[in-house]
Amino acid sequence: MSSYVTTPIYYVNANPHLGHAYTTIAADVWARHRRQRGEDVFFLTGTDEHGSKVARSAAAAGLSPKEFCDLIAGVFRSLAADLHATNDFFIRTSDPEHEVFVQRFVERMKAAGDVYEALYAGLYCTGCEAFYTEDDLNDGLCPQHGTRPEWLEERNWFFRLSAYGERLRALYAERPDYVLPRTRYNEALAFIDGGLQDISLSRSSIEWGVPVPWDPDQVIYVWIDALINYASALTYARPGEDLTAQHWPPRWQVLAKDILKFHAVIWPAMLMSAGYAVPEQLLIHGYLTVRDAKMSKSVGNVLDPFLVINTYGLDALRFYVLKDVRFGSDGDVSYERVHDRYNHELANDLGNLVSRTVAMVGRYRSGAAPAAAPDAAVRDLLVAVGARVADHLDRFELTEALEATWEAVRALNRFVEERAPWKLAKDPAAAAELDVALYTLLDGLRVIAVLLAAFIPDAARSILIAVGAETASGWEEIAPGRLPVGAASRLDGPLFPRIDAPPA
Ligand SMILES: [Zn+2]
Repeated sequence: MSSYVTTPIYYVNANPHLGHAYTTIAADVWARHRRQRGEDVFFLTGTDEHGSKVARSAAAAGLSPKEFCDLIAGVFRSLAADLHATNDFFIRTSDPEHEVFVQRFVERMKAAGDVYEALYAGLYCTGCEAFYTEDDLNDGLCPQHGTRPEWLEERNWFFRLSAYGERLRALYAERPDYVLPRTRYNEALAFIDGGLQDISLSRSSIEWGVPVPWDPDQVIYVWIDALINYASALTYARPGEDLTAQHWPPRWQVLAKDILKFHAVIWPAMLMSAGYAVPEQLLIHGYLTVRDAKMSKSVGNVLDPFLVINTYGLDALRFYVLKDVRFGSDGDVSYERVHDRYNHELANDLGNLVSRTVAMVGRYRSGAAPAAAPDAAVRDLLVAVGARVADHLDRFELTEALEATWEAVRALNRFVEERAPWKLAKDPAAAAELDVALYTLLDGLRVIAVLLAAFIPDAARSILIAVGAETASGWEEIAPGRLPVGAASRLDGPLFPRIDAPPA
């Protein structure tokens, strides 16, 4: 089974913001989870660097396009590092290997009879790097940018997308979950059903791009060039190796809803044309918004991921964005809500439970896991939660997986209140019962840490160390009762230190 997961490649014309972080975190959670399950995962992210808009920004900054891209690609590379993304490669569409691959790919499309030359005239938004019809525009303005598109007339090479309506419909009929969530599947299918028009494969008026191999005066249209990255990366990510046979097609392609059409319609048609299998599934996520988005001057960047990381830590950001807004839907975010979830769920529910447990094991059992089996009711609940979390993650239901895990966290909090180990400790006749209570807590936290390892990797590792199960991170470790007797528990400080007020 393929374990290849991708984020879109990020357009270098903007600085990294919460939207980029969100997609990368989600793909990283899936990649980490599948590695826990013993799979050979390939996780790809990178930057989209061609197009007239980039060339213009570079000129405005007094740099060559390549110099400009080197600079911004570096910023995106460090975003991935700051998020502790475990991507196996970082692709840049200005990589010479990618450019050669793009040329070979479009030659295959041409050999399939899907590429022809014609005159194109239309409205073009350089912000989107896309043509629009009058119907697509709001009062004549780009729906994404609110700017007036330019009228563009030129000889272009075209991709015969119109020839793929039937095959795309068949794909959608065969795979009712090809695109998730269902609303996005319906949206893409409606677009296909509405009739497909051929699209530009090249542009003649710009220079910053991949030359059309049979017509070097033109460059490949930036979107065509960009989409091909998912296939090109596998051919040169490992020098001297081609990972295509091992990893193609992608298991999941994760992206935001604004680029649905490119990924759910144009991309599979391109792959069919060039003779590639299409991706297994696409996961389309929504936007993180603020209630008063219209009041905000910088739309889309109202919650600064770096400020959240600096205030609450990286795990808090990873947890917050996936827990607060159901993955796949749109939702409001704010610093107040980050603050609330940090204090209530991470610091109280989870962090305190770890501190109390380690403190009690230290006080009553000299910091060693007692010889006992876990409480049967807690054990059964953990087994059920573990199975549900795996099911949710198989369907890319990241929020549901976290919610299920939190049922286990809350159950352990109830358990500690009900058993009250501090009372049992006063009664020498209750020693065996105290052993069960403490073992259940330590072992339960161990299971929870394994369930959370893909989401909040640093805290999960600290919890495993705290309960004396440092090496237990594989998915088989979600089975209760695997904590060795005598395992040494220790905790140096709180996992999630109290933060008094939100940063902004
Ligand atoms: Zn636009």
